[in-house]
Amino acid sequence: MRIVLVGPPGAGKGTQAAFLAKNLSIPHISTGDLFRANISKQTELGKLAKSYMDAGNLVPDEVTIGMAKDRMEQPDAENGFLLDGFPRNVSQAEALDEMLQSEGMKLDGVLDLEVPEEEVVKRIAGRRTCRNKSAHVFHATYKPPKKEGVCDVCGGELYQRDDDSEETVRKRLEVYHTQTEPIIDYYKAQGLVVTISALGKVEDVTARAMEALKREDHAA
Ligand SMILES: [Zn+2]
Repeated sequence: MRIVLVGPPGAGKGTQAAFLAKNLSIPHISTGDLFRANISKQTELGKLAKSYMDAGNLVPDEVTIGMAKDRMEQPDAENGFLLDGFPRNVSQAEALDEMLQSEGMKLDGVLDLEVPEEEVVKRIAGRRTCRNKSAHVFHATYKPPKKEGVCDVCGGELYQRDDDSEETVRKRLEVYHTQTEPIIDYYKAQGLVVTISALGKVEDVTARAMEALKREDHAA
């Protein structure tokens, strides 16, 4: 199966992607991993990406698309893959379609993880991270430490990372709405989108996703 996973920040996309890929026996291809791998192996694309990042600029679509293409051509992706973080805008989605078409392939489904906006804010802004190196993570509501502000594991001080501030979360949501959400409409026009709720326990969401993908596979 060739699947694209979409969802706002805080939807638990990375966690779900890992479980789903394992259940479906296909590789989980995340943009974060692609960047890290290309940069650490110092590939041409990796060097290019790093030059943009070091200058504080966005990595151009062509670079990201190139990395994704290389990865999808690896032998383990022959029978499918689960994309996470790519495509992140309509022009990347169009490039992906062209890439697949040129190989006589197509996507089987786009899984859209839905979470109410306020829940996203609550999930991310409630995170508290331990200042110690192992960075143990707690949550003000969902996984409170026994003693406020103190790590249960090592006694370190808990704090809110800048990335997790409400302001940053709202900015990331805005970027998601303007850049990534339009790809859902793009794929809806192709009849590929299945939307599921990402609320509840991790394993329940995975089960829901597997059900939805099975239905989609039979319908295709
Ligand atoms: Zn700790």
